[in-house]
Amino acid sequence: MRGRMICPRCGEEGYLMKHKTAHNVYNYCRHVTWEGGTRRERRCYLGPDYYINAEKFHDLDLAGLVDPKRWARYAEELILRLEYEDLLRLKEVIENRLHVLEREREIEAPEEIDAVAEWERAAQKESLEVTE
Ligand SMILES: [Zn+2]
Repeated sequence: MRGRMICPRCGEEGYLMKHKTAHNVYNYCRHVTWEGGTRRERRCYLGPDYYINAEKFHDLDLAGLVDPKRWARYAEELILRLEYEDLLRLKEVIENRLHVLEREREIEAPEEIDAVAEWERAAQKESLEVTE
């Protein structure tokens, strides 16, 4: 799949390029510019589709920078593996982070807060029902 994108490494616009080998697919963002009739190309490496060797030890479905939801997926997978005391400690970290994000949202769009909070409560309730 090729498509226009904002590069997650340098923040500039470019095109996704997938380089396929026998064992994996390696992703790059191609940045093409023209300077006085000369074509210049710079590539930012975005990681493979799958981390085959790392996965043997971590089993986290690790992905490259092309997958914007990878952090949430890793966090969910890790939370399921943690012990009670670790989860209590993390709960405080999560609550502090939520507090910071909620304050940022209040500054950006105060009228959307109620709708977002309602959606988060519904999502939390749904995930609790799934894990029970
Ligand atoms: Zn880039």
